[in-house]
Amino acid sequence: MATQTIEATDHKLLVAGERVETGEWSEVRSPYDGTLVARVPKGDASLVDRAADAAYEAQIAGDFPQWQRAAVLDRAAEIVREREDELAATICAEAGKPIKTARVEAQRCVDTLNFSATEARKLTGETVPMDAGASGVGKVGIVMRVPFGVVGAISPFNFPLNLVAHKLGPAIAAGNAVVLKPAGQTPVSAIKLAEILYEAGLPENWLHVITGSGSDVGDAIVKHERTRAITFTGSAPVGWGIRADVPHKKVNLELGSTAPLVIHSDGDWETAADKAKLHAYSHAGQSCISIQRIIVHEDVADAFTERFVSNVEGLVVGDPADENTDVGPLISEGDRDRVKEWVDEAASGGAEVLTGGELVDEGRCLAPTVIRGPAPTDKVWCEEIFGPVATISTYSTFEEGLAMANDAKYGLHAGVFTRDIGNGLEAGRVLEFGGVLINEVPTFRTDQMPYGGVKDSGNTREGPAYAVRELTEERLVTLQG
Ligand code: NAP
Repeated sequence: MATQTIEATDHKLLVAGERVETGEWSEVRSPYDGTLVARVPKGDASLVDRAADAAYEAQIAGDFPQWQRAAVLDRAAEIVREREDELAATICAEAGKPIKTARVEAQRCVDTLNFSATEARKLTGETVPMDAGASGVGKVGIVMRVPFGVVGAISPFNFPLNLVAHKLGPAIAAGNAVVLKPAGQTPVSAIKLAEILYEAGLPENWLHVITGSGSDVGDAIVKHERTRAITFTGSAPVGWGIRADVPHKKVNLELGSTAPLVIHSDGDWETAADKAKLHAYSHAGQSCISIQRIIVHEDVADAFTERFVSNVEGLVVGDPADENTDVGPLISEGDRDRVKEWVDEAASGGAEVLTGGELVDEGRCLAPTVIRGPAPTDKVWCEEIFGPVATISTYSTFEEGLAMANDAKYGLHAGVFTRDIGNGLEAGRVLEFGGVLINEVPTFRTDQMPYGGVKDSGNTREGPAYAVRELTEERLVTLQG
């Protein structure tokens, strides 16, 4: 199937039911070859004001009931399905994500919206047995789940469509109006998704999209008096900085990680090597649960390493629009250079670069890289690399392998390969992560499951059923006869 061509277009901001230009433009260019993909206006804090006020008025009017929210989300899912090829091509063009991976993202967006529609239908509270306490006799107690009102949503570049759907779908399902700032590098998919939601029947004042810089538009959304909850996906320093800035607001953080994959001597290391080839390098490693630290038992380390390196050397690197490409460019030249520098630092400290480590395709991409034996202080081990790099370290006892996986400031997902059910249960008990996946790579995710991290990786769970809980608060109502 040929990748659709995305014509360079000027997009407008979506504010208070209007299509807005500001006179100043940001260019969105392909991270692969610099082709112009689109121009978007540079928004500012005054537009955030307009958007947040309009969102507030729309939300308190309260004339968008659950059944309508569900119908809009289901209809939006249908439109995304109809436009899947175009949306995949947009993701590919603006994020440099290989087209076959971009198609999966567009398909997953359909699921995310459908699961959100289900939650809009199911949203409910509970009753309180008031007369279980002597002073409550004669009263009925109801705990309602009520929306926060206006939610500020801020999204990253690496899943420019589906992660925006994970913000908008649950927020709308829960009955919130939203002011969204998508990533500066990848705003087009977000704008298209918003237009799809309007087409599906979303009242325009329930969703506003403002492009512009994080420190200007993002900061204004975070601090605006109308936004009572913030849903943020991005890097840990920015996320925790936001939380510190607005301690009185509900701040839901989905942040980074250094995802470990533990392969025990009794585990299916061949399957692990085959899966890891894709899941350490897909979108050039720019996924928050991309495999970064492979921790393998010494008895199977050589066999695993040989198979894994040979797999990695078979990956096709280059133009993300090409059907055959497995690994495309990093999002920017700065990131490409940073990742290469971290690899070089590890190598000069004594780690072995088994494959990769060099720029290829006329310098546009970093070759998929495998590093053996990083030191615990090497950035490739202890900082989120967010690039096409995996490290291999070895251990002797299962306990030691789990301790190495836990040796991280992050805790999003961990994968463990073992055929022993006792080991699997032990991993589930001991590993300090939001998700522990047995006989699976840490990169696995479907859109309905609870997804989120502990430690520096965040403080919330997404997946529409869980996100709706995080984007509503409990209100007690008692009735006296
Ligand atoms: P980022 O640099 O933290 O940016 C994320 C978003 O925050 C962007 O829209 C950015 O705007 C905005 N922003 C920046 N500074 C801000 C500020 N002071 N106030 C408010 N907003 C601000 O992250 P990224 O490079 O786009 O994404 C990569 C990171 O996201 C990685 O760490 C990755 O692990 C994480 N991630 C986590 C998950 C998860 O679910 N846990 C999923 C995907 C990605 P600009 O684009 O304009 O700078």
